[in-house]
Amino acid sequence: MPGKNLSRDEAQQRASILAVDGYRVRLDVTSAPNPAATTFRSTTTVAFRCSEPGADTFLDLLAPAVRSVTLNGRAVDPAAAYDGARVHVEGLAAENVLTVEADCAYSRTGEGLHRFVDPADGETYLYTHYEPADARRVFATFEQPDLKAPFTFTVTAPAAWDVWSNAPHEDVTAEDGARTWEFAPTKPISTYLTAVVAGPYHVARDHYSRELADGTTLEIPLSAMCRRSLAPHFDADEILGVTKLGLDFFHEEFDYPYPFGKYDQAFVPEYNIGAMENPGCVTFREEFVFRSKVTDAAYEGRANVILHEMAHMWFGDLVTMRWWDDLWLKESFADFMGSYGLIGARTRYSSAWVTFANQRKAWAYRQDQFPTTHPITADIRDLEDAKLNFDGITYAKGASVLKQLVAYAGSEAFFEGARRYFKRHAFGNTELTDLLDILEETSGRDLTSWAAAWLQTAGVNALTPQVTTDAEGRITELAVLQDTADDPATPSRGVLRPHRIAVGLYDRDADGALVRTGRIELDVTGARTVVTGAAGLPRPALVLLNDDDLTYCKIRFDGDSLETLRTGLGDIHDELARALAWSAVWNLTRDGLMPARDYVALVLRFAGQEGNIGVLQSLHQQAKTAVDLYADPAWRGEGGRLLADGALRELRDAVPGSDHQLAWARFLAQTAGGAEHLGLVRGLLAGSARIDGLDVDQELRWSLWLALAAAGQASDEELAAELAADNTAGGKRQYTHCLAARPTPEAKAAAWSAVVDSDELPNALVEANIAGFALPAHRDLTALYAAPYFKLLERIWAERTIEIAIRFVSGFFPSAQTGEPTLAEADAWLDGHPQAAPALRRLVLERRDDLARALRAQACDRV
Ligand SMILES: [Zn+2]
Repeated sequence: MPGKNLSRDEAQQRASILAVDGYRVRLDVTSAPNPAATTFRSTTTVAFRCSEPGADTFLDLLAPAVRSVTLNGRAVDPAAAYDGARVHVEGLAAENVLTVEADCAYSRTGEGLHRFVDPADGETYLYTHYEPADARRVFATFEQPDLKAPFTFTVTAPAAWDVWSNAPHEDVTAEDGARTWEFAPTKPISTYLTAVVAGPYHVARDHYSRELADGTTLEIPLSAMCRRSLAPHFDADEILGVTKLGLDFFHEEFDYPYPFGKYDQAFVPEYNIGAMENPGCVTFREEFVFRSKVTDAAYEGRANVILHEMAHMWFGDLVTMRWWDDLWLKESFADFMGSYGLIGARTRYSSAWVTFANQRKAWAYRQDQFPTTHPITADIRDLEDAKLNFDGITYAKGASVLKQLVAYAGSEAFFEGARRYFKRHAFGNTELTDLLDILEETSGRDLTSWAAAWLQTAGVNALTPQVTTDAEGRITELAVLQDTADDPATPSRGVLRPHRIAVGLYDRDADGALVRTGRIELDVTGARTVVTGAAGLPRPALVLLNDDDLTYCKIRFDGDSLETLRTGLGDIHDELARALAWSAVWNLTRDGLMPARDYVALVLRFAGQEGNIGVLQSLHQQAKTAVDLYADPAWRGEGGRLLADGALRELRDAVPGSDHQLAWARFLAQTAGGAEHLGLVRGLLAGSARIDGLDVDQELRWSLWLALAAAGQASDEELAAELAADNTAGGKRQYTHCLAARPTPEAKAAAWSAVVDSDELPNALVEANIAGFALPAHRDLTALYAAPYFKLLERIWAERTIEIAIRFVSGFFPSAQTGEPTLAEADAWLDGHPQAAPALRRLVLERRDDLARALRAQACDRV
């Protein structure tokens, strides 16, 4: 569709002549409960000024039909004005009123106004999700972040429903079995931040109030909602408790009263991402409402997301990036604040920085080594570019770099900078320089070279200790080597950076634990930096660079330290230091510098004593990847058996009822392959086997069924019976996943066809089909789909919405076919399609790079 992919140039041009005074948007969703109704009525009236009277412009709109267009009282022929993506209008006046009446489509893909029917009770639920540019699927809009305006929504919905939007409702009137909700005008906000949530949601209400410095009291009504059938599982007290701690904390840090009145948090079905920071009306994926026991890592993750979205009320909603190049101005900050806030707001999640070091940074390191990586401040030409930039660089690397900035410039300068930034740019739009100017004021430092090194270049440095000792075993010199050419596939980007780091020296104590005996903080600059203060100290068992995780780098080890880790990684007493060591050996494995089987051996030896549940769950995932993709194929079978044996041993040893026990049970389900393990799985499902303290609840049951299904040991009748017992949205997804995971050509064909041959399937079931189809263990069955995959890429990219297209491209890439021929197929497609959409090429390049990495790791593992 021409015009669908709005470019930065077009947005700049439009913003240079227009200023928007306000939108009035009327939506009529009374048809939603009728499955035969595919559209709803949408009427937009936008008032705007034009600095060049006589000029032309366009509104963005993706709608099946436009009924009427009226500019300044004059009717415009919709057939001529609307091209399927834009409503073009000519001859603007200095002040304009433009009305567009359209039929917009209910969404199945989580983009625009998503409609969901609950299988448990037949109730229909709606919510919107727009970022970066899907408001235009619901109303006619100038779809770019820097044309902010107040929005006034009016929504007519079935009488039994409630409706929420960014602002509180002012009036509700009933007529003809429907109710019309009139909302107050919002503050000036960007189009992508507007929201509507409608349906018979279950609601929990609360209230927050706070004395402000000027003596007034800030009152914020709070609510949290989820589908009615999830209400028995909804721990709203916990959610609202974290919310209040966060509001206290951000008010103290930011010194700017929450600007959006009330604060609603809706947990909604079939949501594509974690959550979205719509001012006053945050939406979350409803998987954060836990139907079954989850580990504390899941609660911590949810609390982190609550604080991340709340930080956006200031970073992103109050002050917004001008265009998507500066997406990091909100996402890096919110990602940083998610972890910072968990500690600062005194939640019970005191290991937030361990999780950050271990999980968020792993995402950043991975993304930053793709050939497609980019500086934190990116070059975003158009909306397709923007869509792909919600990535490990913009979020996790950006947050890591802010953590480094706090170490480099000081936290007072950083937060004073934030406070001035909000006051100076409230309800406005900003770019990098707006923030840097303020941080230079508050820190008194010239940040130009710092920003150039950290924000405007791509790539990750590796830091390696170089230790020399004398005959008595004392350090004669300790130096830190910095390099950029550490990844054979990614040629040096040539950038060495200033790193503020701590060097930790660790030795065994009387109990055998590895404890820190020395810490030296220094600035690393250039290729080699001598650590002053180290000479003369006894050579420690372990030299840990970037101790305390101040900077963003890959940590390497000297030979002696690596040997210490092989025999004693789990003995490191401090959990952050231990998490850094785990992260470093995983990077060595990914980089083909440590054989995958050695990494697996470390996990099998030390994971059982890992106290941090989040770290343990990462180790499970990484060990599985190591066997599936990075190990010599000849060793895969044995590696898989070792993992399953280890899982069973630790499951039996775990404290009854503990999170660790649950994590090991899930890991057993993921790795079970042999008769003994599958027998136990079946016994746990049937109730004939029991593990003391392990509650085989609904989600764990589905994990166990998945193990049986993948092994070809779950019959159609058994899976259907489980679905009948759990006829819910979650149950339907798990059932679909299990069906697609069966090891038969028919099951794979059905899963492929469900996604490829029709666009009827909702996003959640697309995901479930792909997940089941693509099990690495079924690589022989899925091999024949590699050729059709490459053939279909461009067609799917053109025909599907971008969310579904991304899932197809990433999920069906033949990742499990870890051989040279698949690499050659990917290269042939890339060589043969230089003109394909850049965003599509980027996705294929990244999957191709994963494959090349796997081949290098396999070569390292081959003995
Ligand atoms: Zn965010």
